[in-house]
Amino acid sequence: MDRSSLLEPFHTHAADALVAFDFDGTLAPIVEDPDAASPMAGAVSALERLAARVGEVAVVSGRPLDFLERWFPEPSAVTLVGLYGLESRRQGDRADHPSAGVWREVVSDLAERARRHGPDGMDVEPKGLSITLHYRRRPDVEPSVRDWAERAAGATGLSVRSAKMSVELHPPIDEDKGTVLHRLAGFHTGPVLFAGDDVGDVPAFDALGGLAAAGRPVLAIVVDGPEVPSTLRRRADLLVDGPAEVADIVLSLAG
Ligand SMILES: [Mg+2]
Repeated sequence: MDRSSLLEPFHTHAADALVAFDFDGTLAPIVEDPDAASPMAGAVSALERLAARVGEVAVVSGRPLDFLERWFPEPSAVTLVGLYGLESRRQGDRADHPSAGVWREVVSDLAERARRHGPDGMDVEPKGLSITLHYRRRPDVEPSVRDWAERAAGATGLSVRSAKMSVELHPPIDEDKGTVLHRLAGFHTGPVLFAGDDVGDVPAFDALGGLAAAGRPVLAIVVDGPEVPSTLRRRADLLVDGPAEVADIVLSLAG
């Protein structure tokens, strides 16, 4: 099916639709310095316009909520979900996941240890309730970063997740982009769209599969790139070239 036919349900059933996007690699091009990532020009205002048209627009990311709010400061109609569901802002209400708060101190201690004693070439990004260990700058240190993360997880009770050119340590809470998407979908009755580009998005694509099996119209958009795993590409109803094409889709949905 072509792009406009795939997007059609989001025009005809706009008021009941949920439209959700990953941030990095989907709305924002991947850049060397994670702090410098920024959405494609025009994407933020188009998402705000789209939020006025559809049931809900959400950005669901592994980034902390604070980071996402740089682009969507209040007042904003866009739902923000940070740290894979550990933090969110919906209809102006900010909330932590109820079991997450106790892990802030564990995570901050570990960030300090990672900076002092982690492998050379590993970049440490503390995110409040979770921590990301990057090897993007030095892909050769991936094995030692993974090994360090596994040992840290064993010592702290945090759990390890793979992400793009990085490893993340999270509180052991059963929350990911899939549970987030399921919950948000429950607030609406119409079609559900999710766009993402990396392994952290797999649970969201699984959730779309579950919704589709239950008879819900869904659209899985995979943003292609050199680092996109083939397992993810196979999930795509629509494979797009990069964040520029995602922005173009947002613009066309926003009308
Ligand atoms: Mg991404």
